[in-house]
Amino acid sequence: MTPAARPEYRRLLIKISGEALAGNRGSGIDDDTVALVARQIKEAKNANCQIAMVVGGGNIWRGAEAASNGMDRATADYAGMLATVINSLVMQDALEKQGIDTRVQTALPIQSVAEPYIRRRAMRHLEKGRVVIFAAGTGNPYLTTDTTAALRAVEISADVVLMAKNGVDGVYEADPKSHPEARKLPNLKYLEALNLRLGVMDSTALSLCLDNQIPIIVFDLQASEAINRILRGERIGTLIS
Ligand code: UDP
Repeated sequence: MTPAARPEYRRLLIKISGEALAGNRGSGIDDDTVALVARQIKEAKNANCQIAMVVGGGNIWRGAEAASNGMDRATADYAGMLATVINSLVMQDALEKQGIDTRVQTALPIQSVAEPYIRRRAMRHLEKGRVVIFAAGTGNPYLTTDTTAALRAVEISADVVLMAKNGVDGVYEADPKSHPEARKLPNLKYLEALNLRLGVMDSTALSLCLDNQIPIIVFDLQASEAINRILRGERIGTLIS
């Protein structure tokens, strides 16, 4: 498929959950899936889009889970944020192998491995055609990388948040794994999504997108040329707007 001549969205914030990076392994990092993401990003770059990414960490560590096993919650969340840094570096490497200039910016200072998050510098990278990966979440415990995606999308004036899922092609009226008869919802209003208490995105993230009118598309990362198809205006996944 050729790249979209006039892409539907110019500046994208793509959220990749840690789980998505684990592919079918369930945890850890699946190299084939990481390479697939990198190829999809390359297609979007070929369509002249500006791309920022937020990478999760749930394939390595989840703060809430560790806290439920007795660990101090804030400390557990900092560990979770560090997990996102590992994933971000892996993603950066895969993008560079595709010949894409990439910068990682972290919300926690880790100068030796990545730039600090500086909004204006991130915007400049985007304008220069570099992919910017926002690592370490917001830098604050008790939050998620979904919220980070919404926050950074607002900060950089992204046109859309693309929520990449692994093997789930949108929002369903009930969990399709336990309810195979559940129907997919192609369109949702923010408030409907909030009322459904969706597992696809937390309420803080949804509220931020609602308040700032940033559309969200939930789609299956494994679907062939998914990002390219979205940029060509094809309606795949679920649009929350
Ligand atoms: N986290 C955090 N603050 C943030 C973002 C993330 O404390 O702003 C921690 C939290 O412990 C979370 C972990 O980092 O469980 C990994 O992020 P998340 O669960 O959002 O990753 P995903 O589910 O997208 O893989």
